[in-house]
Amino acid sequence: LFPGKDYKIVIVGLDNAGKTTTLYKLHLGEVVTTHPTVGSNVEELVYKNIRFEAWDVGGQDRLRTSWATYYRGTHAVVVVIDSTDRARISIMKEELFGLLGHDDLQHSVVLVFANKQDLKDAMTPAEITDALSLHSIKNHDWHIQACSALTGDGLFDGLEWISQRIT
Ligand code: GDP
Repeated sequence: LFPGKDYKIVIVGLDNAGKTTTLYKLHLGEVVTTHPTVGSNVEELVYKNIRFEAWDVGGQDRLRTSWATYYRGTHAVVVVIDSTDRARISIMKEELFGLLGHDDLQHSVVLVFANKQDLKDAMTPAEITDALSLHSIKNHDWHIQACSALTGDGLFDGLEWISQRIT
């Protein structure tokens, strides 16, 4: 899937979006949780030549600046959305445009996982595209992928899209 050099994929999302479930469902290896700062954690998984790092965004202003140190060398940003969480999608939109402005992410591609599609009140990918204003992303290649981290549906399709873009 990702031949050759080393890759780094950063996974972000609000708490409860499904980041941890996604990492485990990929069955790529063991998830390691580290504690870079008090009260926060980063989940990390290294599979062959791909490093995945996952953390929460939103509601952590105090810690936000420290996340920037994790962006260096990132090839792809994966944004995991709880598709049933209509109340907080605008928070994720602000976080997304904030991180897309970061110097270390200028060459990253962006994959949005419209997660929890197995739930019947889930927003569709089209609704999420609108809610996140994805069409206004100008400097990054982006894609939205419907998925369920619970069943695994769509997860590898998403990784496949990334691998097509960053090789
Ligand atoms: P994180 O905070 O982003 O790491 O979210 P978690 O992976 O811990 O998931 C939060 C909750 O959502 C857990 O109860 C998961 O079982 C549930 N969850 C995650 N993905 C899905 C999904 O695709 N469908 C459903 N129905 N539940 C999910």
